[in-house]
Amino acid sequence: MLEIKNLNKNFDNKKVLKNINFKIDSGDILGIIGPSGCGKSTLLRCINLLEKPTSGQIIFEDKNIINDNKILTELRKKIGMVFQQFNLFDHMNVLENIIFAPVKLKLMNKEDAIKKAKNLLKSIDLEDIIYSYPHKLSGGQKQRVAIIRTLIMNPKIILFDEPTSALDPEMTQEVINLMKKIANEEITMIVVSHEMSIIKGLCNKVIFMNDGKIIEEAQTKEIFENPKDERLKKFLSKLNDN
Ligand code: ADP
Ligand code: MG
Repeated sequence: MLEIKNLNKNFDNKKVLKNINFKIDSGDILGIIGPSGCGKSTLLRCINLLEKPTSGQIIFEDKNIINDNKILTELRKKIGMVFQQFNLFDHMNVLENIIFAPVKLKLMNKEDAIKKAKNLLKSIDLEDIIYSYPHKLSGGQKQRVAIIRTLIMNPKIILFDEPTSALDPEMTQEVINLMKKIANEEITMIVVSHEMSIIKGLCNKVIFMNDGKIIEEAQTKEIFENPKDERLKKFLSKLNDN
């Protein structure tokens, strides 16, 4: 359903993504791991065109989406993104945050959006915070609201960029539980995380990146139990030292 071909991204003269190629199928949960600064966030941001790739192709639903501004809204609807820092609108309460995009884009009328938002919140026992503002919420609540804000759009793919890095362990678990629930609904996901328990627990495939390149790509078990490249071995052994 999504294929990345010869993707490059430069910032000024700096090459940040270097000839990235991979493909995911519907229902896949792809993990992306690699040291800080290797280009993971830039790759996710290119996939939903928050960054414009320098060259290459992103084929989504049989179309190259690069350079097609007409489909940008359509694309953002189908490819949701969840950020480390939640990115909720501070001046809107939880309900307003969740219904903002579908109502603005006229995908739903306000009444239906409210109904759906309430159902989604209820499904994860968050209905009591429906009128709270973000500053009143815990990190785990904020991130789950951010995820629901994405889910209400019925996305085909959700991109997660370090979704638990700003959270303490207890809240991390709440967010992982929600991500597992989404995985069971067969929504395709790409998950960038430093937390190997998330990658191991959720992903069927993993890509290891280093210095803007894909170094190794394999089934999750293979990556952790039988890593091949020395840089991946070193990366994994460093994690084990902690
Ligand atoms: P990761 O998410 O793997 O930590 P990033 O994708 O955030 O890595 O960053 C990859 C490289 O690109 C880093 O060297 C970073 O400094 C650089 N970079 C990221 N965004 C920008 C930007 N907007 N302008 C210039 N350089 C950037
Ligand atoms: Mg990053």
